[in-house]
Order: sequence, then structure tokens, then C-alpha cells
Amino acid sequence: MRNCRQAEIICTKIQYKEATFLEKLQIRLHLLLCRTCRAFVKKNSRLTALCDKANLKTLGLEEKERLKKKLSGKQQ
Ligand SMILES: [Zn+2]
Repeated sequence: MRNCRQAEIICTKIQYKEATFLEKLQIRLHLLLCRTCRAFVKKNSRLTALCDKANLKTLGLEEKERLKKKLSGKQQ
């Protein structure tokens, strides 16, 4: 999905819980590639919350820091 308009439509669908799993996946991919839509999502706090949920599998900042410390500790 490379169309921003389509992404916007799916984002709206997600808001109303009408989006399919596939559509959510497509949105995630599109957001990874498209700065414009990321900015759009950032402006919309509801969507940001939804996208946070969609990104549950990615590591949080705290987790990353912890991993970094763990790794650097091993190297020393
Ligand atoms: Zn876009």
C-alpha cells in the first residue's frame, strides 16, 4: 500500500474498529515508510494510541536501554 489517501481511510477504519488484521498490518508497513502519515498519526492522539498497540512487538525505550547496558557490560 503506497497510497497515503488509502492509509488515511484505513486509519479511520481502525478508529471505528472496522479494520481487518491485514489492513492493520498494511498501515504499520506504510507508517514505517511514509513520514507524512507518521506526522498525521502523531497529530491524532487516538491514532497514536492505536499505533502504539500495533507496535507492541517492538522494544520500548526502557527495554532498549536495558539491552544496551547488558550488551556493553558483556563486552567490557
Ligand atoms: Zn503515507
